[in-house]
Amino acid sequence: EHFKNSGLRQLLLDNIHKSGYLRPTPVQKHALPIVMAGRDLMACAQTGSGKTAAFLLPMINLLLHDSKELIVTNEYCEPQAVIISPTRELTLQIFNEARKFSHSSIIKTVVVYGGAAVYHQAQQAMKGCHILVGTPGRLLDFVDKGQITFSSLRFLVLDEADRMLDMGFMPDIERMMGHPTMVATGERQTLMFSATFPEDIQRLAGKFLNNYLFLAV
Ligand code: AMP
Repeated sequence: EHFKNSGLRQLLLDNIHKSGYLRPTPVQKHALPIVMAGRDLMACAQTGSGKTAAFLLPMINLLLHDSKELIVTNEYCEPQAVIISPTRELTLQIFNEARKFSHSSIIKTVVVYGGAAVYHQAQQAMKGCHILVGTPGRLLDFVDKGQITFSSLRFLVLDEADRMLDMGFMPDIERMMGHPTMVATGERQTLMFSATFPEDIQRLAGKFLNNYLFLAV
């Protein structure tokens, strides 16, 4: 098994190669074709399984494909992809991987998280980006102030959903999912990752995802 046969664009293969990744991990091997086919996905995968690249690679691949929507201007550009993750640490890891895999492309990634000054993050978010990574509370702050809108959203990722549930973030997430600018399930691709799959997570998957495939690795 090689990334070469995955159908990913050359820019991604080059960036994967630069990362030193030789072959896809099991979650990557199985998630890539599902996401590239445009399907929603509920994946049970642990930290350390390579789940971050499992959603970033096919997501960036599809964002690169639709280049006309990715012309960078000085105007605000709504995020095409939003990744919600429970902690600052995880959020920064995802941000760094997204930048690594989209290196030398026009894709711009912005990160927002709590426990840091709002001003700089707000400036970045309001300049616009293609990929926005953030923790639930801080994302919702910007959404409530109208500084982030979801009308152009094509991908939504809920990472470590069980942890976000345990940390009490579901009300924030539900509010973002129900925001007036949020595109409907079925008009966006939604990917949910969770280490466990208890009833609460099953219910959320049923609510946030559209005709999804289930993957356990
Ligand atoms: P994650 O589960 O996404 O947090 O990834 C765990 C670690 O594995 C990270 O340090 C990744 O950089 C690394 N990693 C992810 N995919 C691969 C791969 N295909 N080959 C080697 N390392 C990888």
